[in-house]
Amino acid sequence: MTVKAFGALAADKPLEALDIERRTPGDHDVQIDIAYCGVCHSDLHTVRSEWAGTLYPCVPGHEIVGRVSAVGAHVSRFKEGDLVGVGCMVDSCQHCHSCAEGLEQYCEGTGMVGTYNGPTPDAPGHTLGGYSQQIVVNDKFVLKVSHSEDQLAAVAPLLCAGITLWSPLRHWNAGPGKKVGIVGIGGLGHMGVKLARALGAEVVAFTTSEDKRTDAKALGAQDVVVSRNADEMKAHAGSFDLIVSTVAASHDLDAYTSLLARDGTLVLVGVPEHNHPSPQFASLIFRRKAIAGSMIGGIAETQEMLDFCAEHGIVSEIEMIPAQAINEAYERMLRSDVKYRFVIDTASLNA
Ligand code: NAP
Ligand code: ZN
Repeated sequence: MTVKAFGALAADKPLEALDIERRTPGDHDVQIDIAYCGVCHSDLHTVRSEWAGTLYPCVPGHEIVGRVSAVGAHVSRFKEGDLVGVGCMVDSCQHCHSCAEGLEQYCEGTGMVGTYNGPTPDAPGHTLGGYSQQIVVNDKFVLKVSHSEDQLAAVAPLLCAGITLWSPLRHWNAGPGKKVGIVGIGGLGHMGVKLARALGAEVVAFTTSEDKRTDAKALGAQDVVVSRNADEMKAHAGSFDLIVSTVAASHDLDAYTSLLARDGTLVLVGVPEHNHPSPQFASLIFRRKAIAGSMIGGIAETQEMLDFCAEHGIVSEIEMIPAQAINEAYERMLRSDVKYRFVIDTASLNA
């Protein structure tokens, strides 16, 4: 089936309208009419080949929500008309230790297959993402959405931004009695503030943007630190149990490890084009501090996060755009000029 999409033909080319092919649903497949797709900074990194290995044409998009339009013969969990989501993965080996534990993002067999730029037998040999009208996905990688339909566009970013913060917040036990910092109040970071607060933690937002101070409080932060201000940073020295950095550029990690309490952890989720400068060992060993990383989240915990958000009325703060505005949206994202996630209305693909 031929569907309309938006993507890039090369790293130095803007995104443009493309026609792509989707497979006929197999026995275990769910065909989804995509309603909305969030715009993640990873889309930009990939389209512009800032990480190695981008395959073209590149159709990004891994914050997908829509309605089921067909199911394969062996699919029992979904039926036509259901509201569903697809996040960053569409397959994994399903057999290894990590897959068995529901942590498919760390699949040690084939590796997880990304929703875009991942290996697939489908044409053109790599997966094509959600900046498109439809997608066909193995039912194991389809999530149920129980938010109301009018919230659907604002649910889309939960499929990557939401789970990427939820997974480390849960793994490192963010909750009552814990002080949690979220660094970089963009697409991921603003969800981190909302989720950490909803989990009951004390939340401090770190931003380079003075104009996000008021917003960050409205999102749920009890305190906001403008990280360029040394005195504001110092006021929190040695006090955090957990800090999650979503910053999409290389930055000084010591500035944040110095804010951790004994046994505190700085978790990196931002994936900048260039490495961070090496941290100082002294900033870690004297108080048994750790620096860790975390990648998205497994399918089971993504469902857990979606259900938690539906129950607590949590969605993303979004600015809706037509697909034709995507190149300008990328430029604005680079200037941190988005409050707080662009979401493509795929109806614009018909234009
Ligand atoms: P985003 O919306 O652009 O947000 C990043 C935020 O980082 C910006 O809003 C800005 O916040 C801050 N920032 C940007 N440049 C900075 C700089 N030079 N110094 C300090 N702060 C800076 O991006 P996103 O979609 O949230 O993604 C963030 C990163 O996470 C990207 O690298 C993305 O690829 C990665 N990612 C990782 C995973 C994972 O599984 N680990 C999943 C998805 C995305 P302030 O204005 O508040 O400073
Ligand atoms: Zn993403």
